Amino acid sequence: MMYRGIPASRGMSMGRAVIHQFSDPAAFERTHDLSMSISAEKNRIVKAVGAVCSELDMICESLEKSMEQKFIDIFRTQKMILNDPNIHCEMNKELESGKSRAEDAVRTVFLRWEALFRSLDRSVIQDRADDIVDASRRLMTHLLGKKECTLPFCDDACILITRELLPSEVVLIHERHFAGVVLSSGSPDSHAAIIMRELGIPCVVKALPSAQEVPADCLVLLDAVNGQVLVDPTIIEKEQFQRSCERFSTLRKNCREARKLPSVTRCGIEVSVFSNISGLGEAATALENGACGIGLLRIENLFLARHSVPGDEELYNLIRDCIAPFAGREIVLRLLDLGGDKNIAYLNITQEENPFLGRRGIRLLLARLDLLRQQLRVFLRVNKEIPIRIMIPMVTFADEVKTVRDLLQEVALEEGCSGIPPLGAMVETPAAALAMNTLLPMCDFFSVGTNDLIQYTLAAGRTNSSVTDLRRRHHPALWRLLRTICSEAGGKSVTLCGELAADPDALPMVLKCGIRSLSMASPMIPEIKERIRGLEI
Ligand code: PEP
Ligand code: MG
Repeated sequence: MMYRGIPASRGMSMGRAVIHQFSDPAAFERTHDLSMSISAEKNRIVKAVGAVCSELDMICESLEKSMEQKFIDIFRTQKMILNDPNIHCEMNKELESGKSRAEDAVRTVFLRWEALFRSLDRSVIQDRADDIVDASRRLMTHLLGKKECTLPFCDDACILITRELLPSEVVLIHERHFAGVVLSSGSPDSHAAIIMRELGIPCVVKALPSAQEVPADCLVLLDAVNGQVLVDPTIIEKEQFQRSCERFSTLRKNCREARKLPSVTRCGIEVSVFSNISGLGEAATALENGACGIGLLRIENLFLARHSVPGDEELYNLIRDCIAPFAGREIVLRLLDLGGDKNIAYLNITQEENPFLGRRGIRLLLARLDLLRQQLRVFLRVNKEIPIRIMIPMVTFADEVKTVRDLLQEVALEEGCSGIPPLGAMVETPAAALAMNTLLPMCDFFSVGTNDLIQYTLAAGRTNSSVTDLRRRHHPALWRLLRTICSEAGGKSVTLCGELAADPDALPMVLKCGIRSLSMASPMIPEIKERIRGLEI
């Protein structure tokens, strides 16, 4: 039987089906036995939190040698959530109402916090919502006295079939050597999918009506390049699949071996391939994957994993440590891209009704000059040690760039800098793309953010799963905008840094539109470079 889904992490593998029950704390039914005392229920929560924290410590310890710090941090974050005084205070209030047992209090409070985080943000804070679900699931499992719903170890090749995955489960899947994952639900944009791409675990999402559709232990052929899942295949299907796997792994191997070579098409067009990064440790991996520089450092994460704005010194150290492996090469730091959909509680950003059309990116920074000044000051200090470029997110008007340029000059004077680093704009609104001539005098370079440009051009929100099908990357309007941006950039560099940059099928059109520089998540770099070398353009 063949099922079709969406490839979320490219790759091909085959193995025995292992069905995993996704344990959902929201599915816990309210108890009506309220015979226990409030203090006894409070104690149960305290004990369960203690037990879960020890469990998390053990997981972190066991991963210490084999995994990058950022993956281990997923478990540390859960520990932080479980010890959050606000969450404890709310759980105590629930218990004091006399209407809840410990399980009810955990369910109610964590669901409330999850809903809050989901309503706030599309990506970075959404990750936090996943962590909240994960933490509450562990806590609930302990309270209910169940065995932890962990993934089994597999000694032969296995494909995990389940409804959804949480980030921590992906880390364990990698540890337990699963050959691939098929999700009946999920999304290619989820935090879990991003981690699977980074770890190279093939995955297809939205592939089955339900995980129960697949009988346990039957053979599954997973083609996460074309989004196909073959369950219980015939001998001929299996042989064909094995040949495709061999071709794919030869291609992968060639890509890896050639990842540090330049990427020049057969007709001699040289394309620079940069990496997008967002945290510590990613630059080293990007260098290893053959990136020629950092095309986009998203600094949002550096602000997120904390309770207050970092001080200058702290921000300086964080940024310097993030980019150090690329010192001496081109590095682009983007100013904080927050607002509306991407929020940070401690910044008290006003909630808006239509956040994607609201105060985002530079609009927000111009309303929060304290934040903007600090970033410019810190970027200038970094620039003294490691030369960088500064990029402005969500530009619509030339005067937004002018204001930042003037402020940058002013801060540079205060800091005793002799000059300022190159300043560029992200082109991610149709207005910016169609009025390049107005931006040109103000900008030293441009970077096209297709994730946003596509949603604004096609009027289909990037987080709205009901219009996923409408966010087609290959719409002629997008190519027309890309052509316009490149031809009207006055010879200044134009990098493409949205997800489109890592789409091998879009590559020929992207180059035909005039793009000569790409920036993407680093695991895709070897394959994209190899594709470039094979193009007759
Ligand atoms: C984009 O919009 O394509 C982009 C790179 O910015 P972000 O995804 O961070 O909004
Ligand atoms: Mg964007």
